[in-house]
Amino acid sequence: MNVRYGILAAAVAVFAVLSCEKKEVVPVPVQKPEEKPSEKPVEPAVTKQLFGTVIGTEKAVDYSSGAVSFTVNSRNCAFDRDFNTFFASYDRSGTWAGLDLGKKHVITKVGYSPRITQEGRVELALFEGANEADFSDALPIAMVKERASSGVMHYLDVNCSRGFRYVRYVGPNDARCNIAELEFYGYEADGDDSCFYQITNLPTVVINTENARAVTSKKDYIKCNVYIVSNDGKELLSAPQTDIRGRGNASWDFPKKPYKIKFQEKHHVLGSPSNDKKWTLINNYGDKTLMRNILAFEVSRRVGMTYTPFCTPVDVVFNGEYQGCYQLCDQVEVGTGRVEAKDGYLIEIDAYAYGEDVYFYSGKGMPVTVKYPKDDEITAAQLSFIKNYFGQMETALWSSGFKDPVNGYRKYLDVDSFLRNFIVGEFSGNTDTYWSVNMYKDGGDGVLFTGPAWDYDLAFENDQRTYPINNLSDYIYASAGSVASDATRTMVNKIVKQDAAAKARLVEIWNASKPALSSLNDYVDETAKLLDESQKLNFKRWPILSQRVHQNNAPKGSYAGEVSVVKSYITRRLTRFDELVKK
Ligand code: CA
Repeated sequence: MNVRYGILAAAVAVFAVLSCEKKEVVPVPVQKPEEKPSEKPVEPAVTKQLFGTVIGTEKAVDYSSGAVSFTVNSRNCAFDRDFNTFFASYDRSGTWAGLDLGKKHVITKVGYSPRITQEGRVELALFEGANEADFSDALPIAMVKERASSGVMHYLDVNCSRGFRYVRYVGPNDARCNIAELEFYGYEADGDDSCFYQITNLPTVVINTENARAVTSKKDYIKCNVYIVSNDGKELLSAPQTDIRGRGNASWDFPKKPYKIKFQEKHHVLGSPSNDKKWTLINNYGDKTLMRNILAFEVSRRVGMTYTPFCTPVDVVFNGEYQGCYQLCDQVEVGTGRVEAKDGYLIEIDAYAYGEDVYFYSGKGMPVTVKYPKDDEITAAQLSFIKNYFGQMETALWSSGFKDPVNGYRKYLDVDSFLRNFIVGEFSGNTDTYWSVNMYKDGGDGVLFTGPAWDYDLAFENDQRTYPINNLSDYIYASAGSVASDATRTMVNKIVKQDAAAKARLVEIWNASKPALSSLNDYVDETAKLLDESQKLNFKRWPILSQRVHQNNAPKGSYAGEVSVVKSYITRRLTRFDELVKK
């Protein structure tokens, strides 16, 4: 072994936290010569340094001129055993260097050394393995989680049982790779699918788009392969030929992008009750606790909403680049385990309705999106029916006899689900609640039910327009900072303040929910613990803890500081809500 490399390995090795048991290399039993004398005994697999054809991004940068070069600082410089030479790509991101090993190999260890003077540029780099030359089936096998000293090799143990023909190092965002040396170790074998690499304790969602294209549209899908590694690396969901596009409103404008994915087949993803093709990846860019939606959904469950969307935190790798901590959630749609309204309607009072395919304005001017029946399936008669039904509800609510239990608004609207949704929104402190309200009608004879809760990234004191919520003299919907329209404000007001029976029911539901909500801060602590490993990487990828983003109030400069804002808010909200419902 090269002395310069050998003596350094043990001392400076950086080992990945192995999430599943290390697989022993099991020697294949040697056949007895008398049984099959013509066959050579099979050699047991031996781990060794691997060599192959150097592959990777072709365009390098010649720093002396800033121009493209195919010879200076080329990818070969990452495999020349010289710490003073390095691969620097011309493009700043999405660039890589690796090896075509010719045959499948199980990788057991990778080595790397940053370019001298550029020690930070390895942080968040990913090693991947693939069996397609374009890396469309690539899976991460190791991640560099810290900056590293130059002039020495650093090693990461790899614990992935699948054999790969192609292996690579993908530089982190905006690093131009800047890698001085790379090494791969392993043994020739097809391997198996018993163990994969999971970046943190959270599941890893890997998205490889066709030709490594960026997702730039909220309308047009592009193709990608999606892989979800979970259960400490022991489970892999493979979803080839998945459609992906952007999603969201304000959140789409952030550099960390939210996505909608549509599998070819239905899947129960990560233990979800729903079995569906469409899923969302929530980016949580403006929510620095990375948990506000998760928390609001927990409030929804504790308040007794019929259906709360499935939502679980994950790490996302997009075309070989770590993108941070996301939430994988149900799409709000009609389906088994989602909104159960197969022969009915799903609508949303939605300030962004004008951007949707199917929507209407109510008589009082509320914009309403129709989400089900689907855009391409809804008939003119169905659209007319739901618009008319919503109008009848509105007319009843605005009439002088609106409180009448038989002929008032109760004829069209379920009061309990409306009140539960009201508590979820107001207890969580969501300024957006009456900007967007989901409702569904289950079959021809059913009334309109309110729910599910959705889009809570501005909740729990994350909106300077309503800060500090607990000092407001009234509910959020009735306050100056609220984004509720006049019509929705009147609607809520009539039900929770002017209808004595509904108001009494609100107090009852609140009192019944309070014991469960009073321990919510324990759930915040558990969630913060669950997210800890991932949040550290997330804020390396997006160093915004000291910046105001979107509607943030003053930033706290740390993850723990952001979480404590939520906890203080909840503690005070529990007593403040008592005061508000009794007013
Ligand atoms: Ca070199």
